Amino acid sequence: MTTMDTIIGTTGPALDWLHAAQHATAQAGLHRDPVVRDGGAGLLDLASNDYLGMSRNPAVLAAARTAIDEWGAGSTASRLVAGTTRAHLDLEDEIAEFLGFPSALVFSSGYLANVGAITALVGRGDLIVSDTGTHASLIDGCRLSRARVVVVDRGDHDAVRAALAAREEERALVVTDSIYSVDGAAAPVRELYDAARAHGAALLVDEAHGLGVRGSGGRGVIAEAGLSGAPDLVVTTVASKSLGAQGGVVLGPTVLRGHLIDRARTFIFDTGLNPGAVGAARAALALLRADPDMPLRLRDNVLRIADRLGLTLPLGPDGTPQTSAVLSVIVGDPQPALAAAAACRARGVFVGCFRPPSVPPGTSRLRLTMRADLDVADVDRAADVVLAALREVGVR
Ligand code: PMP
Repeated sequence: MTTMDTIIGTTGPALDWLHAAQHATAQAGLHRDPVVRDGGAGLLDLASNDYLGMSRNPAVLAAARTAIDEWGAGSTASRLVAGTTRAHLDLEDEIAEFLGFPSALVFSSGYLANVGAITALVGRGDLIVSDTGTHASLIDGCRLSRARVVVVDRGDHDAVRAALAAREEERALVVTDSIYSVDGAAAPVRELYDAARAHGAALLVDEAHGLGVRGSGGRGVIAEAGLSGAPDLVVTTVASKSLGAQGGVVLGPTVLRGHLIDRARTFIFDTGLNPGAVGAARAALALLRADPDMPLRLRDNVLRIADRLGLTLPLGPDGTPQTSAVLSVIVGDPQPALAAAAACRARGVFVGCFRPPSVPPGTSRLRLTMRADLDVADVDRAADVVLAALREVGVR
């Protein structure tokens, strides 16, 4: 062993606590290792967010290659310095037009889009009303903003109204996901919008899991609620899920785009989205536009697997089941959830396993994501495998 090995392999007194922390996490069954994919061969993928199969679509791959050939492997600098290509601006125009908003600004991830948008919109002396189901990127944006944050129960728009009515702050922002990422439930965006408007607040909705999944042609929950381009509405979304690429987007009035360029720190100080991802996202969006039934095929597959697994989907205002691409099969404790996920994988089906802190204690689960590009036989095989895996670990 060289001196360097010794130095690299050890902790000193200041970091020795990490060993105890890791041990405690492992004892609780909560240690995580990034799951390594098998390159797409063999396993049926019900774990990724590639809901429409775009990440391997030949046209999307070709567009990514072309963009890299034209602009390079990286965007080489922050957007304001040298990291904006014509393709970034085209993507912004195309997604704004598709979703019915005056303007869009592309960030290098959805996480950074959310943090950047929230911190640019509210600060010390302002109020945020958020809910218990929001994604970590929204939570971090709220924390970093230094605004006062009131958290209400998911879906409780009356509590949102009450918090807004009782505030002393002049400026307020309501923050929610449209589709909650862990279990796929939908937020009452229309009611939240009305509550915000009635009390002079803006509403920010994260459509990461709505784009390509809900609404006419995949335009999302916001479009479904008739809110595309509505005043005082800010929508964030991502290219990393149904579009199979990467990148975040903030949509709203043109003046918002200008303000974010000037003020959003995660835009200003971050290297621009890489050109390959920009090209891929544009191609995926074009494919979605050209085939507006894609989200309907996804919905059919969701209804089929939910039925086979005996999962109850919430009913929407019109009495039909509310679908998203995300389904949860609650197991309870982390260890059997992990064992069930491993048993699925051993049978050729790749599913996610969510444990605390991603979900509340006692609700560790298999997280399944459905896809538009599976046929009925694949969907049925997946359901059979999940049921067999649950039986094997003794939870059904
Ligand atoms: N919002 C939601 C609801 C998400 O599920 C995710 C991804 N997990 C993000 C934002 C972050 O997006 P990205 O992965 O592009 O950073």
